[in-house]
Amino acid sequence: MNIALIAHDKKKDDLIRFVLAYKPIFSEHQLFATGTTGKRIQEETKLPVHRFKSGPLGGDQEIGSYIANDKMDLVLFFRDPLTAQPHEPDVSALIRLCDVYTVPLATNMGTAEVLVKGLERGDIEWRSLQKED
Ligand code: PGA
Repeated sequence: MNIALIAHDKKKDDLIRFVLAYKPIFSEHQLFATGTTGKRIQEETKLPVHRFKSGPLGGDQEIGSYIANDKMDLVLFFRDPLTAQPHEPDVSALIRLCDVYTVPLATNMGTAEVLVKGLERGDIEWRSLQKED
C-alpha cells in the first residue's frame, strides 16, 4: 500500500513517535511524505520515504495528485488545528480529494491508530481489489 504521511510543524514530533511505534507495520509499505515531514521520518526512523515538496510549497497538492490518480491508499495527516496555515486551501483540497476518491484519511493520532491497526489486519485490502476491477 502507498501511505502518505504529513504533519504540521507542531505535530511532527507526534508523527515521528507514531511511525516509530508502528515501524514494523510501516516497513511493509511504501511511504510518501511532504518535504520536511519526510526528511525527519527518514532521519529518525531510518525508513525509506519518497519525499514531495514541502507542504506550503506544493507538497500537499502533489499528494493530492497521487490521490486523484489512484496512487495513494491511506493518508495520515497530523494537522495542527490551533495554528493558521498559509496553505490552508491546499490542506482542505487534500482532505476533499480523500473524500472524492474514498481514500482512508486520519487527521489526528487517535484515528491514525485505528487505521494503522486496520491496515495490519488487512481491513484496507479492498483498495487493491478495487484497483483490479
Ligand atoms: P512539511 O509540510 O512536511 O514540508 O512541513 C507539511 C505541511 O505543512 O503541509
